[in-house]
Amino acid sequence: MTMLADRPLPEITPLTEPFWAAARERRLVMQRCDDCKAYRFPPEVGCYACSSMNSAWEPVSGRATLYTWTAAYPPLLPYFAERAPWPIAVVQLDEGPRLTTNIVDVPYEEYVFGMALQADFQQLDDEVALVVFRRAD
Ligand SMILES: [Zn+2]
Repeated sequence: MTMLADRPLPEITPLTEPFWAAARERRLVMQRCDDCKAYRFPPEVGCYACSSMNSAWEPVSGRATLYTWTAAYPPLLPYFAERAPWPIAVVQLDEGPRLTTNIVDVPYEEYVFGMALQADFQQLDDEVALVVFRRAD
C-alpha cells in the first residue's frame, strides 16, 4: 500500500478567519470597504482603492468566470507531486475580486477562458473548507 502525503492546509490568521468561518458554513464572503464599497481579496487591513481602514465581510454570489490557469509540475510538496500535473486556476467573481483556486469537475484539457463557474466547498478537516469552483449549470 502506498502512503499518500497529507495535504498542506492554509494558515488561518485573525485577518482571514471570517473567510474560513463562512467557508465552513458553505458560504463565500468577501471583505468590502465600508467607505468606497470596493471588494477586496486577499483580505487586507486597509482598502486598496481608498486606504480606508473600515470594512465588513459580505456574502457574494459565488458566480465567477475562468480568468486564467496553469498546471504545476514537480518539484512540488509531496501531496501535490503525487497528483501532478496539478491544475491551478484564477477565477474572477462577478463582484470583481480574483481568487486562486481549483476547479473540481472539469478536466484540465477542457478549460476555456471565460467559462462560467460556481463556487463550491471541499471540507478538508474540522477547521478548513476550501473554496473551489465547478462548472456553472
Ligand atoms: Zn475603499
